[in-house]
Amino acid sequence: MVRVIVVAVPGAGKTTVLNKVLEKVEGLKLVNFGDLMFEQAVKYFRIANRDEMRKKIGLHDYRVIQERVAARISRMEGDLLIDTHAVVKTNLGYYPGLPCRVVDLINPDAIVFLEYRPEDIIQRRVKDLKAEEKYRRYREIEEVEKVQEHQDRVRDYAIAAANHARCYFVHLRFLKPEKYPFQHAEEASKSISELVEALREAKAKEALLE
Ligand code: AMP
Ligand code: MG
Repeated sequence: MVRVIVVAVPGAGKTTVLNKVLEKVEGLKLVNFGDLMFEQAVKYFRIANRDEMRKKIGLHDYRVIQERVAARISRMEGDLLIDTHAVVKTNLGYYPGLPCRVVDLINPDAIVFLEYRPEDIIQRRVKDLKAEEKYRRYREIEEVEKVQEHQDRVRDYAIAAANHARCYFVHLRFLKPEKYPFQHAEEASKSISELVEALREAKAKEALLE
C-alpha cells in the first residue's frame, strides 16, 4: 500500500496535477482531504462552502474533525494519492494540516511539495476566480510577497511532517515560466507518477522486518 501526500498553496494547480497522475498510473485512488473535511463540517456547522471551514470553525472542533478525516483515510485500502495542505492559513495564524496525530494515521511514504513562482500562482487564482461561482470556491488573491511567505510555510510544515513520519520529502520546483500551456502540470504529474511507481516497486521487495 503506497500513500503519497501532495501539498501546495491553494490555487497552485494541485488538482490538475493529480488528475493527470491518475491518467498515468493505474490503480491509484485520489483522496481529497478538503472534501472529507467539508463532509464533516456541513454535518455540524453552518458552513456554506469549503473555504469557510478555516474561518468559521474553532480550534478544538477543527482538530476533532481533522483527526476524524485522518482516521477515515487510515482505514482506506489500496494505493492512495492524498490531496491536502501542509498548513492552513487562517485569520488567527497558520494551522498545521499534517500534525503528528494526522500524519501517524495517514502513515505516508512520501510528502511531495509543489512550488511555483508566486506570479504563476496568482495568475492561476485569477483564472479560478472566473469559475468561482460555478464551483463555489473563493480563492483569495494575495500579493507576490504574501504568496511567497505562504509557500515558505508550506515547505516548513511539510518538512516537519515528513520528519515526524520518517518518510521521503520530495520538493518539485517550477520556477521558470511555462513554454506551453500545462507544462508544469505535465512535468509535475510525470514526476509524481514515477515516484509512485518507484515506491510500489520498492515496497514489493521489502522484507517487512518486525
Ligand atoms: P482545498 O480544496 O484542498 O483547498 O481544501 C479545502 C479546505 O479543506 C482547506 O481550506 C482546509 O480548511 C481543509 N483542509 C484540507 N486539508 C486539510 C488538512 N490536512 N488539515 C486541515 N484542514 C484541511
Ligand atoms: Mg485543490
